[in-house]
Amino acid sequence: MRKNKILITGGAGFIGSHLCQRLLNENYFVICLDNFITGNLANIKPFLKNKNFRLEIKNVSNYIDVPGKLDYILHCASLASPTDYLDFPIQTLKVGSLGTHNALGLAKKKKAIFMLFSTSEVYGDPLVHPQKETYWGHVNPIGVRGCYDESKRFAEALTMAYHRVHKLNTKIVRIFNTYGPRMRHNDGRVVPNFIDQALKNQPLTVYGKGNQTRSFCYIDDLVDGLLNLMNSKENLPVNLGNPDEFTIMELVDLILKLTGSRSKKVFKKLPQDDPQKRRPDITRAKKILGWKPVVPLEEGLKRTISWFKS
Ligand code: UDP
Repeated sequence: MRKNKILITGGAGFIGSHLCQRLLNENYFVICLDNFITGNLANIKPFLKNKNFRLEIKNVSNYIDVPGKLDYILHCASLASPTDYLDFPIQTLKVGSLGTHNALGLAKKKKAIFMLFSTSEVYGDPLVHPQKETYWGHVNPIGVRGCYDESKRFAEALTMAYHRVHKLNTKIVRIFNTYGPRMRHNDGRVVPNFIDQALKNQPLTVYGKGNQTRSFCYIDDLVDGLLNLMNSKENLPVNLGNPDEFTIMELVDLILKLTGSRSKKVFKKLPQDDPQKRRPDITRAKKILGWKPVVPLEEGLKRTISWFKS
């Protein structure tokens, strides 16, 4: 029987490479497309000798094509760390808009199931808490995060238009803060930053007073949810994330405890438009996908710290 063939844009990134691994284990033929702007060859190196894996070094923001049939396209490519999209705002806007258009066009040609990797950032600095999929958000379009937030909002609109007009079978996942092995040491996001600083006994950089909150999901939990959604009948957006909410100061203290680090804390200016709080309402994911995260923050951090050490 022919294997299901799947294209993952951004497949060499943090989430993309975990998905490649899981889908290879589940007997899919995986094509990983990446331009390595933030992806890392080391993440996918072990798969290069697998006969069910192919790497295409390409930018999804330019025209893309692959020969033969395609059953799924997972459009995961994006700059996802605030420091990355501050450094590359135009590439961020292009991958969310042009990249999504190209990926949808290919899905239409191949009659493939399409999944957009969207984000909790579509809710901006939310005025509703926790965030449900029915909330329309509170986004500053011209602020420094606008390049990410608005391109993902456009990407969702485009995906729904392809679903409605071309009857494409599309999925939209809104991913909340996720962490785990294979995040870059210089990624800029809070978990890799703090672990890296703690392991080097350097000061932990707390932005603002550290009373802003986030809810952190371990990568393996997220990947379970992504596979469930990919194979579901759902076409409307679904939040995936861990609803356990922590302040940034609570995260600092936990990472200091788990690493046994001698690091101090230093307080830095809060970045512009930094959301004050964030927590997913995962009622829909529980109901539609029968999914909920199972790895507690402390356990996930232990696994991530041990990967950073190695
Ligand atoms: N943050 C911090 N120190 C850091 C990096 C991030 O205090 O070294 C804070 C940041 O201001 C934000 C939260 O941690 O409130 C999460 O930031 P991250 O960059 O991980 O992503 P975000 O959730 O803002 O997209």
